[in-house]
Amino acid sequence: MFQGLVVAERNAGDRGKFIDIFTDRNTVQEVYVRGAKKMSSAGTSTTQQFSYARFSVNRRQERLYLDSAEPVRLFYRLRESLSRLSLAMYFAELIRLSVREYQNPGEQCEALRLMLNTLHFLENGERDEAMLKPLFELRLMTELGMMPDLLACRSCGEFLPERLCFSVEEGCFYCASCRKSQMKNSILLRAPALQAMRHMVFAEYDRLFHFHLGANHLAAVSMCTERFVQYHLGLRIKALDFYYHIQAASPTSSQKGESHEPTSSDAGIS
Ligand SMILES: [Zn+2]
Repeated sequence: MFQGLVVAERNAGDRGKFIDIFTDRNTVQEVYVRGAKKMSSAGTSTTQQFSYARFSVNRRQERLYLDSAEPVRLFYRLRESLSRLSLAMYFAELIRLSVREYQNPGEQCEALRLMLNTLHFLENGERDEAMLKPLFELRLMTELGMMPDLLACRSCGEFLPERLCFSVEEGCFYCASCRKSQMKNSILLRAPALQAMRHMVFAEYDRLFHFHLGANHLAAVSMCTERFVQYHLGLRIKALDFYYHIQAASPTSSQKGESHEPTSSDAGIS
């Protein structure tokens, strides 16, 4: 018996399916659901992606079989928006791959809490997708023990330079004067973006989703966090490409037009 969030489901033959559950013990468990195709709709919704539930399972020959599932929260309204749904699918894939393949998170890791809180704000639309994406990416890396060093310029120790350069590979930043001329894989930022990244890394959960940052700064931060995840986890997740595809196709989405591209004056890639 454990509590967890379904992060993926796969058909298995005509009658059953496998689901991957991100559990409250910070593991990803594959569980076989018998007769998934014949279940009542209530049974189906409890075992579908983004269902947070209490699962009772039994183990036979190294495989877990579902006995019963009791819903806690289903996040079904994510499906009302293709953009929200595809972003949620990216988060789920990031969890599934990073927790299972790369990490063995400790007891104090709060990745499940991060995921549930993020889905809550994504589902009810109280926070922009443009804010939730970098926040989730950076805090997940922090929860997995791979947080970047955002304390001060790596070279001279300046705490809050007006202009700075985030190094994706080194996971730290340099102020404008210490910035090496040929820094590869680095992103120019300004002070407010650095402060927001510090907030994402250090804030307590009751304050984590409470901050504001302009669209251009947010786009630059999002580029930092996305490339930081890709570089350090060695992952390229198709669901993210799909999310961008949906974004580009949907003129009503929250990230559109120029807000996607940071201007060269306050952010950019070098
Ligand atoms: Zn410096």
